[in-house]
Amino acid sequence: MAAPFSHLKDLDYSVVQQCMHCGLCLPTCPTYDATKLERNSPRGRISLMRAIADGRLEATEAFGDEMYFCLGCLACMTACPAGVNYAELFEHARAEVEAKGVLNNPKRNAIRGFSVGWLFMDLNRLKVLGFAMRLYQQLGLQWLVRNSGVMKLMPKRLRELEAMTPDIQPALSADLIAPVTPARGQRRYRVAMLTGCAQDLIFSDVNVDTVEVLARNGCEVITPPEQHCCGSLHAHNGEWELAQTLARRNIDQFPPDQFDAIITNAGGCGSHLKHYASLLKGDLVYEKRAHEWDKKVKDIHEWLGAIGIEAPKAPLAPSCDALPNCTIGNRQSAVSKWSPTTSPATSATARKLRASRARC
Ligand code: SF4
Ligand code: SF4
Repeated sequence: MAAPFSHLKDLDYSVVQQCMHCGLCLPTCPTYDATKLERNSPRGRISLMRAIADGRLEATEAFGDEMYFCLGCLACMTACPAGVNYAELFEHARAEVEAKGVLNNPKRNAIRGFSVGWLFMDLNRLKVLGFAMRLYQQLGLQWLVRNSGVMKLMPKRLRELEAMTPDIQPALSADLIAPVTPARGQRRYRVAMLTGCAQDLIFSDVNVDTVEVLARNGCEVITPPEQHCCGSLHAHNGEWELAQTLARRNIDQFPPDQFDAIITNAGGCGSHLKHYASLLKGDLVYEKRAHEWDKKVKDIHEWLGAIGIEAPKAPLAPSCDALPNCTIGNRQSAVSKWSPTTSPATSATARKLRASRARC
């Protein structure tokens, strides 16, 4: 009888055995920095993953806790001389944790089932939640809740979550951006624009600006009002099959052979969107298209750098600055493509960007 499928045991062994234990990644790792424990370091985690792949260890609750203690920031990848693909190992390790159910309990299952398994599988559901949150904020309920002291009666985790509630935009991308935005002047490219899930609720104004900049730089922009989540939330939380489902939906909605580029302006989404091929490896229908998709996905800064951005006519404010998040710098390597000549950033800013790559 064939052995049951295991994400780590069935992973390409050339990925599993790449680490040479040099330890150069340790100073970049925030969790190792906090505890100085080997098991909380990239090297320690990779050793645990390899032990499972080799059959020397079974996935346990302690292994699951360790995989979720990792922030997934991928700073370790920027320091690794061996080019260890920690991102792939990390996603498969979390998928192993979920497949084995070692962290399962009723509360966790309910929260994950609602959020990852239901809410983010259909963005209309997320929009309804966003609308409710907007009402909560605009009708003064949030102010009342925060100032009445009622939150002191709530569990600590709920208090923390409420304090982090972002401001919801008054209108979403589907209401603000036409499905087809023509290029200003001569059309040079035809691109698709991904408006995102949480990105759309919190930063739909940034989506509008992104489409405007693309159009001003010769791009016809296709922005369907109904879109899908990219699936990064699912892949980073071990929900491999749900992530695959969303990847297939995106490839179907934006056939890569019909666009010069597929644009994202959300760093975490972009780092996942560029790796659909490994997610859909072995899929007879989608793997080839996923390879083409990966080549077409571009972070907005990367794309503007590649096509040559038209410099803004108005002078930039001297304090204008930009800080890429960890996923742009660490997994997409898009920061290296920014330069004073390809982005509005000043050279002083560019120096700051290079220095900021190691950590969030
Ligand atoms: S992803 Fe971040 S937290 Fe996790 S091992 Fe690498 S550096 Fe450490
Ligand atoms: S830097 Fe790379 S090869 Fe060295 S211990 Fe870290 S992951 Fe392994």
